[in-house]
Amino acid sequence: MDEPEPSGAAVLVVEDNPVNQLLVRQQLERLGHCPTIVGTAHEGLDLLPDDHGFDLVLMDWQLPDIDGLEATRRIRLREDESNAHVPVVAMTASAMPEDRLACLDAGMDDFMAKPVGLEALAQMIKKWAAPSNVDVERLGGDKPVRVEALLTLQRELDDPVLVATLVERFLDELDGRADSFRRAVEQADVDSLHRIAHTLKSTSELMGAIELRDVCREAEQLEDPAALGDIDDRFRRSADDAATELRQWLAANGA
Ligand code: MN
Repeated sequence: MDEPEPSGAAVLVVEDNPVNQLLVRQQLERLGHCPTIVGTAHEGLDLLPDDHGFDLVLMDWQLPDIDGLEATRRIRLREDESNAHVPVVAMTASAMPEDRLACLDAGMDDFMAKPVGLEALAQMIKKWAAPSNVDVERLGGDKPVRVEALLTLQRELDDPVLVATLVERFLDELDGRADSFRRAVEQADVDSLHRIAHTLKSTSELMGAIELRDVCREAEQLEDPAALGDIDDRFRRSADDAATELRQWLAANGA
């Protein structure tokens, strides 16, 4: 390998099949990660405290006690109170789109087809558990970008390259519109401001840039020139935040 592996991720594997247990243990150790393997959903749940000691969970779908979907729902339910988010990746024998959808609906972040290959596993850990990956913390709360929106896009479009391209285009658009926005503010040109804000409002929402969308929503309605300074400040801040978050997202998820 040319690139150094990220320093070992702590990976919880919930998998009941002994052959798969052995396989995934070998693979994870070979990749330099640190596996903890359990055979039932309840053992997995017991090992996941609210302040997660794991970087990633690999979750089998069919388990002897409760299935991987239900286990994930319970993990997410507990997280509602703590604002944590451990990435959960399904390991499923099914490639059916509706099954993948069920994984995402249950709160899983991604899925891998079984049997899991070494390269696929390495990529998945890089995507979800690498130190450079920031989106895990971005999932909840009042963060400037809600990555759920991008996950939803990926789910709907089923094309990660296209989603990355959309994010790149949006970043270009944002650059240009930020300049126009500033000019409109400087010239107290409320009509132009309304137009710019209107256009940017929907694409911001598409990207999960909720703060920016809210500022655009206000700017679109703004009539009092005295409020221009304030809206300009908030626009800059939320546009910068959105750009930073989306660039980080691209770095972690871009094709
Ligand atoms: Mn199983």
